[in-house]
Amino acid sequence: MKLIADFHTHTTYSHGKGSIETNALAAIAKGLNSIAITDHGPGHRFYGVRRAKFAKMREETDALNVKYAGKIKILLGLELNLLSLEGETDYPHEQANLFDFFLMGYHRGVFPKSGLLSFTIKKRAPEAIERNTRAICLALERYPIKIVSHPGEYIPLDITLLAKAAVKTGAALEINASHPAITPEQIKLAKAEGARFVLSSDAHTPERVGDFGAALRLAMEAGLSEHDVINASSTNL
Ligand SMILES: [Zn+2]
Ligand SMILES: [Zn+2]
Repeated sequence: MKLIADFHTHTTYSHGKGSIETNALAAIAKGLNSIAITDHGPGHRFYGVRRAKFAKMREETDALNVKYAGKIKILLGLELNLLSLEGETDYPHEQANLFDFFLMGYHRGVFPKSGLLSFTIKKRAPEAIERNTRAICLALERYPIKIVSHPGEYIPLDITLLAKAAVKTGAALEINASHPAITPEQIKLAKAEGARFVLSSDAHTPERVGDFGAALRLAMEAGLSEHDVINASSTNL
């Protein structure tokens, strides 16, 4: 499977080590057609991008798209944080037009709106798994989310329930090379529901951009083909 895009990378705008430009140059060196800069949403206590930086990130991305035209397409995304059992996130309503797309995942260390403890107490109990999965499904319905980041990382999820919601709203489920929490069995269950997938590096350094290793191994083990993966050669975001 040839992958042509890395839709999940971080920069110094959150807690990555590289800049938008160094990530883009790394993507060019890896032979990718496209890279997304997807720093953490402002709801994260430690790593969130400050809202005041959004316009600067957009300007920088636009300028680099001109500078590297024909070499790489740079998308500006944002990795939203799940903030409540009702599916609220830190989606930037007033500045949403500055971004090309949104990912969303559960992260520790967020400013919760409600029910933070509900995500962590007895999180492996069947009722907690269902409640936490429903929170993510509600977020998919509430916001224009294209990718669910690292499903199953930090909190176990009901993959069938999640896949059904993702199919309905058109979100792809991520197979994340840095947080390979999803299992081949779960990938197969999600595929049976018609889910589509995205393989990402979740790079926090330019060196890791386009490093799909662990994600590719999981995808292969689950028997995915290019048709199942939105950043494989025949398709796109
Ligand atoms: Zn994440
Ligand atoms: Zn990330």
